[in-house]
Formats: sequence, structure tokens, C-alpha cells
Amino acid sequence: MIGGGQLARMTHQAGIPLGIRFKLLSDTATDSAALVAGDTVVGDHRDLETLREFARGCDVITFDHEHVPTGHLRALQAEGVAVRPGPDALVYAQDKGAMRARLTELGIPCPRHRIVAGPADVARFAHEGGGFPVVLKTVRGGYDGKGVWVVRTEEDAAEPFRAGVPVLAEELVDFRRELAANVVRSPSGQAVAYPVVESVQVGGVCDTVLAPAPGLAPEAAVRTQQLALKIAMELDVVGHLAVELFEATGPGGEPRILVNELAMRPHNSGHWTQDGAVTSQFANHVRAVLDLPLGDPRPRAPWTVMANVLGGDYPDMYPAYLHCMARDPGLKIHMYGKDVKPGRKVGHVNTYGDDLDEVHARARHAADYLRGTITE
Ligand code: ADP
Repeated sequence: MIGGGQLARMTHQAGIPLGIRFKLLSDTATDSAALVAGDTVVGDHRDLETLREFARGCDVITFDHEHVPTGHLRALQAEGVAVRPGPDALVYAQDKGAMRARLTELGIPCPRHRIVAGPADVARFAHEGGGFPVVLKTVRGGYDGKGVWVVRTEEDAAEPFRAGVPVLAEELVDFRRELAANVVRSPSGQAVAYPVVESVQVGGVCDTVLAPAPGLAPEAAVRTQQLALKIAMELDVVGHLAVELFEATGPGGEPRILVNELAMRPHNSGHWTQDGAVTSQFANHVRAVLDLPLGDPRPRAPWTVMANVLGGDYPDMYPAYLHCMARDPGLKIHMYGKDVKPGRKVGHVNTYGDDLDEVHARARHAADYLRGTITE
């Protein structure tokens, strides 16, 4: 696996029961997965020679992030390395402009969008639609809201162009909430769909995930799962695909589902599956990239809630564990071993049960307590 973050750490964990020999290419020896993976190479994923050397002896290469240059992956593939997902799919998770163009071609609903050349062009884009505000995004390299701006005037629009990378303009969708549809597909073409979830973002960062999305009509849920399966098939995705969605309101008051973006790797909106589904996203990602039959994606309980633990005051963990574990024996804690920085994702908790409010309150309490923002 290329990339040493928490996604690699949890993918490694999911491969252990299958006896998978897991090799990691990590930026540093102290990245989350590098702390636990025995076979770790520290190196730069942007360097083709490092990638070549790393790939030697691997049956298959997969990813914890989308930052490996597409050209390098094409080169590895041409040399016979099994790269899953492959570069022709991964480019749509790397480049938001390419993703918008391809999905539109496939008839998948997206926000109104266009690549823009500069602030004056942004103003033209705004006036072609409902005017300002509009959303600007650098087509590559963004994550957790970095690389996304909401601009209200032409003057505001200068900043995103400073990085010198192409900029995508989008209508500002007045969404009711954000959803995610997670599917997994194998090279043989088998695919499974997890229940559609609601993902609550705070300040551009995923905060809580409710599984399944409360109040989503069963027909809308099935249509959304089918949309994600169609994307996985049409783009030839192998492994886990997260389709991040906006639920907006159509002209007749009906829900209108639009695709925001794609991630081709395990995803924060799928962390609930570790404890809340028969087969976790990590286990299914491992199965998919090895072309093994996929596991049952069904939920184990009516409701599962995942809450991220963000870096905050971060109390001494031992007394925090004493408190949280004693208070809630059903609580599932997943910490990533990362250094704490304010706002950084350092872990998450999962709770599940029959009553959404109760399950939600338990997850919220534990995430806040582990972060150190509450003391009772
Ligand atoms: P990132 O790559 O940082 O995850 P996203 O494209 O997912 O970037 O955008 C981050 C957040 O910004 C989204 O989760 C959403 O809350 C908001 N956002 C992005 N695009 C739009 C849009 N067109 N309309 C309204 N909000 C948006």
C-alpha cells in the first residue's frame, strides 16, 4: 500500500486475519501505518524509481491517498505491476476537472461547473448562472476542504489562481445535507454496495457519519447505490469507491442527488463499517484488490454512528479510556497513533444499536471526551 496514513493502518489490520503480507511505502517512519506495519519502506511516492523498487515483490499495489502521479502509475502498469485501482480510474479521483467532465458525459448529475481561466472568467461563470457566490476548487491536490473557496466577488476570486494549477468553478449547491455512497468492486466485476450514509462536515472536515442516512426514502437510497455502482463500473474502479454526494431540493421539492467528488480508497464515510457492517470497507478493499470474492456489506444493527476524534487538548489517554470504556461497554474506539495537531483526525469511535438518538449521543460523548473538550 502506498501512503502511511490511518487508512493504510486499518487496511493492514483488515488483512492480518487473511495472512496477507502487507508492505508499506510511507513518507516517514512515524506515519500512522508505519508505526504498526513490519515491512515499511520510507520513501517518496512522487519518485518513479522509489515506486519501482517498492513494487518489486508485491503482487498488487493499492493506495491510502490519491497523490501518486498518474504518469508514474501508467509506467508501473506498463512494466507489469498490478495497480489497483488503475491509473485510468484513479485519475478521476485525482483531478476534479476530469471527474466532472467524465461524470457529465455519463449523465451523472453534478453541480453546474466549468474550468475557469481567471477572476474575470469566474465572474462570467457566475453570471451565466445565478450569480455569486460560486465555489472554486483547484483541480488537484485538495483535501479536507483545503483547495476549496467560496467566493462572493470577482476580487475574491484571485486567491485560488495563485497556485498556478487549473481551477474549477462550480455553482454553490444549497444542499440539505451531504451523503456518501460506498461501493467496492473487484477486477472480476463483482461489486457490493453499503447502505448510503449521511456525512456531517464541520469546517470542511468530516465530523460524524450516520448509517444509514436517516429519513432517506428506500427508493432514493437504492437509486443512489445504483449510481455509485454505475460509476464504479463505467470508470473500471477496483477496490473501495466513495461517492460523496449533495442532497439538494429539486424544483418540485423532491430530493435531488448530485455528485460532489470521488475517492478510490477506503474513506472516512466508511469507517462505521468496521463495527457496523458484516464486512468492513477495509476487509472488502483487501478482497477486491486481490480479486477475492467480496464480503457481505449489510449492516449488523439498525443504526451505526461514527464520530471522528479531532486533535484538541487531547487528554492523557489512560484516564480518558477508563472513563469512556466504563461509561459505555459497547463503544468501539479506533485511534491512529498520530501526533496531535489541532483539528487533525487522530481517531474515531463507532457505536451501534436500535435507537438513533441514543447511538448518536454515545458516539458524540466519546469523541468529545477523547478530544478533551468535555470532562464528564
Ligand atoms: P475536498 O477535496 O477538500 O474534500 P470537496 O470538493 O469535497 O473538497 O469540498 C469540501 C467541502 O466543500 C464539501 O464537503 C462541501 O461541504 C463543500 N462544497 C464543495 N463543493 C461545493 C459546491 N459545489 N456547493 C456547495 N458546497 C460545496
